[in-house]
Amino acid sequence: MPVETKTTCPYCGVGCGVIARVEETGAVSVRGDPDHPANFGRLCSKGSALAETIDLDGRLLTPHISGAPASWDAALDLVATTFADTIRQHGPDSVAFYVSGQLLTEDYYVANKLMKGFIGSANIDTNSRLCMSSSVAGHRRAFGSDTVPGTYADIELADLVVLTGSNLAWCHPVIYQRLATAKAARPQMKVVVIDPRRTATSDIADLHLSILPDGDTALFGGLLADLATRGMLDRAFVDDHTQGFDAALSHVADLGIADVAESTGLDAADIEAFYALFAASERVVTCYSQGVNQSSSGSDKVNAIINCHLATGRIGRPGMGPFSLTGQPNAMGGREVGGLANMLAAHMAIERAEDRDTVQRFWQSPVIADKQGLKAVDLFRAVADGRVKAIWIMATNPVVSMPEADLVRAALVSCPFVVVSDVMAETDTTAHAHVLLPSLGWGEKHGTVTNSERRISRQRAFLSAPGEAKADWWQMAEVARRMGFDTAFDFAGPAAVFAEHAALSAFENEGNRDFDIGAHADITVDTYDALAPFQWPQPAGTAPNAADSRFFADGRFYHPDGRARFVPVIPARDQRTTAAHPFALNTGRIRDQWHTMTRTGKTARLTAHFAEPFVEIHPDDAKALGLTPADLVVLESPQGRAVLRALVTPRQKPGHLFAPMHWNDQFASAARIDALVPGLVDPVSGQPASKHVAVAAAKLDVG
Ligand code: SF4
Repeated sequence: MPVETKTTCPYCGVGCGVIARVEETGAVSVRGDPDHPANFGRLCSKGSALAETIDLDGRLLTPHISGAPASWDAALDLVATTFADTIRQHGPDSVAFYVSGQLLTEDYYVANKLMKGFIGSANIDTNSRLCMSSSVAGHRRAFGSDTVPGTYADIELADLVVLTGSNLAWCHPVIYQRLATAKAARPQMKVVVIDPRRTATSDIADLHLSILPDGDTALFGGLLADLATRGMLDRAFVDDHTQGFDAALSHVADLGIADVAESTGLDAADIEAFYALFAASERVVTCYSQGVNQSSSGSDKVNAIINCHLATGRIGRPGMGPFSLTGQPNAMGGREVGGLANMLAAHMAIERAEDRDTVQRFWQSPVIADKQGLKAVDLFRAVADGRVKAIWIMATNPVVSMPEADLVRAALVSCPFVVVSDVMAETDTTAHAHVLLPSLGWGEKHGTVTNSERRISRQRAFLSAPGEAKADWWQMAEVARRMGFDTAFDFAGPAAVFAEHAALSAFENEGNRDFDIGAHADITVDTYDALAPFQWPQPAGTAPNAADSRFFADGRFYHPDGRARFVPVIPARDQRTTAAHPFALNTGRIRDQWHTMTRTGKTARLTAHFAEPFVEIHPDDAKALGLTPADLVVLESPQGRAVLRALVTPRQKPGHLFAPMHWNDQFASAARIDALVPGLVDPVSGQPASKHVAVAAAKLDVG
């Protein structure tokens, strides 16, 4: 008899439900789960090709030490003794974990517990730093907590959907399908797309604002001033539920349309049209993603957007609110367990002594990290200069995906001890591992993930573990035990990890914490196996939300006085291009590939969309460089070099380029686009500015 298993797509933060069907022959097919509230049966091209990516070709199936197969015992003993020796000789901050939004929440929980509570360092950061950390910082500044207020249903209910820095059609395709369906049903719904490029998403826009890179703070700062001038503020909401409005307004009050036009490169008439639409639409949802977050001013951009929603009271009610869309399948779950260098578990703050005490007492741990650890860019720089002497990388490929990718590669070459846990044997990163640990892949492991609207869903195994592959949480628990931390890591399985995570979320839950899933603190294996998708919070004694849950409906926020904060932002744009590097390069994603292609690159169907790494360039620039379509182009920045195929298109602005970040040196040489990206970060969030890179471009001289 065929067996069907309900699970969750492992790609993007939409978190679609999937039904995997295994035939008696072993053949696997997938379809969308009609009952899952994220997608109601829909899947995008990547999700519907999942069954084509689960073969064992290229899989890492046994532990390796120095390139040779080894037993689990030998590999785990070596990891434990080397980490313990390094800590003994050089202190806890001489070691680090670099983890991933691909990890399940249970994996993330164990990693965070080991590093912060037992090793005593906060040197655990994640590739989610590259994805949404500016939104986390913006939420915490505005709300006093990392809370995403809205739900996908709000997007469908809105009269105006503003998409800024988001190519929804390609990067969150099922949300785009839901938006497009809602717009077709309600023609009065308007969509504004703010993006330097004309993308697939802008094709459904009523208004496309082709903004200059990093012009968002000026655009939304000008909007705040415009709303005040029009008398469209919600004074009662501002007075009763917020602080800091006057200071925020004073920073932008003098911003006229002409100033905004100069800072954003937009036509004054288009700016006027956007501002009028925003003012006139009560139900407004502003969605933002990497184009906002991946910026040296990402946190300020987020707060400039939130400021406009607070000023109009458009938050906490159906069909309105700011909405950060997470990139990865479990970027949100990682935040819940404190899987970033600047957070504790259950949304508690590493800077707060009471929070550290709460977590340490709950864990009964010997230590607790008492200061922020190294964020991703600084972490690899610390590896490069020798401050970090042992690193464990899990479920990510930083030699391709990190800014300063060449520096990251050199750092791993020079690092005394590199451990990599992965499903694939040969990636640009596994090549530098002293110890390689085989992990379970999608379809082989049990756990939970949380999507962009705070919905926790199960991933369930429907395939048996191949070779000697093991769950990531198990690998860390075994290393912890070998380091002498026996009882704290004696988990019987992922259900036990999830139960402990839920119990911590409710432990002495007071103060400003919004994340409480205490209803699941005593979850059994059977209940965990049957767990239906639910949104947090779900405190003990409460049922899962029957409908979409929305935060801030009562106008109370998580700062100690219950008020949200306006954050004054100063609209400023860097002039990043120079005579030597005259093009502004925007890096991003394409419809059919995921991250560094270690899985999506396996299927010919997905590779057919774009077969080679490319750079989009405007016809005028192509002509000036002597390029014809499909010529090879060399891009160079002070950090590195890449060779890409020219895609000549008027969708790109003159002087601006776009290149996807997926390709790695396994698929094409000199195609790692992150080799060009500098380690410039947002000073608040530490998120790299991957959307605005100054580069030189020239036709490749093949003579
Ligand atoms: Fe998977 Fe995202 Fe596509 Fe849904 S939209 S099927 S979660 S990649």
